[in-house]
Amino acid sequence: MTITAPERTRVRTDDRAHVFHSWSAQAQIDPMPIERAEGSYFWDDEGRRYLDFSSQLVNVNIGYQHPRLVAAITEQAAKLCTVAPGFANDARSEAARLIAEVAPGDLDKVFFTNGGAEANENALRMARVHTGRHKVLAAYRSYHGATAGAIAVTGDPRRWASEPGVSGVVRYWGPYAYRSAFHAADEHEEGARALAHLRDTLVVEGPHTVAAIILETVVGTNGVLVPPPGYLAGVRALCDEFGIVMIVDEVMSGFGRCGEWFAVDHWDVVPDLITFAKGVNSGYVPLGGVVISRAIAATFDDRPYPGGLTYSGHPLACASAVASIGVFRDEGILEHARALGRDVIGPELRALARRHPSVGEVRGLGVMWALELVRDRKTREPLVPFNATGAAAAPMAEFAAACKQGGLWPFTHFNRTHVVPPCTTTPEEVREGVAVLDAALDVVDRYYT
Ligand code: PLP
Repeated sequence: MTITAPERTRVRTDDRAHVFHSWSAQAQIDPMPIERAEGSYFWDDEGRRYLDFSSQLVNVNIGYQHPRLVAAITEQAAKLCTVAPGFANDARSEAARLIAEVAPGDLDKVFFTNGGAEANENALRMARVHTGRHKVLAAYRSYHGATAGAIAVTGDPRRWASEPGVSGVVRYWGPYAYRSAFHAADEHEEGARALAHLRDTLVVEGPHTVAAIILETVVGTNGVLVPPPGYLAGVRALCDEFGIVMIVDEVMSGFGRCGEWFAVDHWDVVPDLITFAKGVNSGYVPLGGVVISRAIAATFDDRPYPGGLTYSGHPLACASAVASIGVFRDEGILEHARALGRDVIGPELRALARRHPSVGEVRGLGVMWALELVRDRKTREPLVPFNATGAAAAPMAEFAAACKQGGLWPFTHFNRTHVVPPCTTTPEEVREGVAVLDAALDVVDRYYT
């Protein structure tokens, strides 16, 4: 059922007149109205269907409109819509217990937020109060959110307009073998050199001044960078050696995206703080949080935690998280995500790389993948320059337009397209999407030199 023509016009005119959109030049955008969605698909206001290879902003991990989540939210709304954080509440207690159950090591307390940026803000605050130190080491290739502290520890260009931002942030290069900052020959050398660089950075900063190292377990919008073997364990060891808090940002990589509850589970590394959001309840109601180790939680046993949010642990959000974790368990979502990446997405994308010279590298795990597009495989010259906009970004815009024309909603960033559909996507749906990517890559192959 599509909406009527006058209603359709109204959505667009009211949007253009009154909605101020994120990260956009307001006069240059024309946001497409989404009318409904189900599973791995959504429909625009003209009834056109798109297979979602973006999961919106990589958050709809269990797909759209899962009936168990819709029912949980509806039931909770009928019972109790809102409750301040100073009270106890059944939805919040259960969500916290379930998240503690699936978190690694002794991380068993949860501070709830409304999303990922606030989760990182609070993780940084906890680390600073716990250590009594101020500095934070953060990666260049990272995104941690758009609030003051979270954008200050972000490394990518989204931070530029907010600089100088918060003091005491020092950046380092994380591993990225395809475009190594360390001239490494392979993944192993990349991991070892990245660790040596991190240690050097720490030493010259004065480890006794450093509260935390923050990193995305698998770097998300900056390229789906899967850490080389041993890298995360090396960061853990550095943190242990110098009494530094290890914060892993699993806002994107957590809750099934990488085929585990948390991506760190792939490497059996236990951080001190994990931040989460997105996939915890697939964004059905805004929710994020920090999972906290016992040692850090104990810092606040007898002194007040200096932070809070009116909607921390909102019952509608927590009820949907409880339902979501139930869905993960009962429907075997983690197993499905692992197998989908291993047996379908990985092989299909590698086949695309064999057919299209412009695919420089395929990388990923679980349901978090990227194709890096180049003009030349030997020089690895990116299809579009770093941070390109306007005419310079045209080849990627053409690629995205070809995907949409074919009924696929892609996730493109700089010279990459990420393949991040819902974790519940079927192998047939993946193949349907890959066929569209295949045709769209013909368009960008024309730029190959
Ligand atoms: N951290 C990571 C790794 C993210 O990918 C994002 C959002 O994309 C955030 C933090 C910020 O989350 P939010 O937009 O919910 O504040």
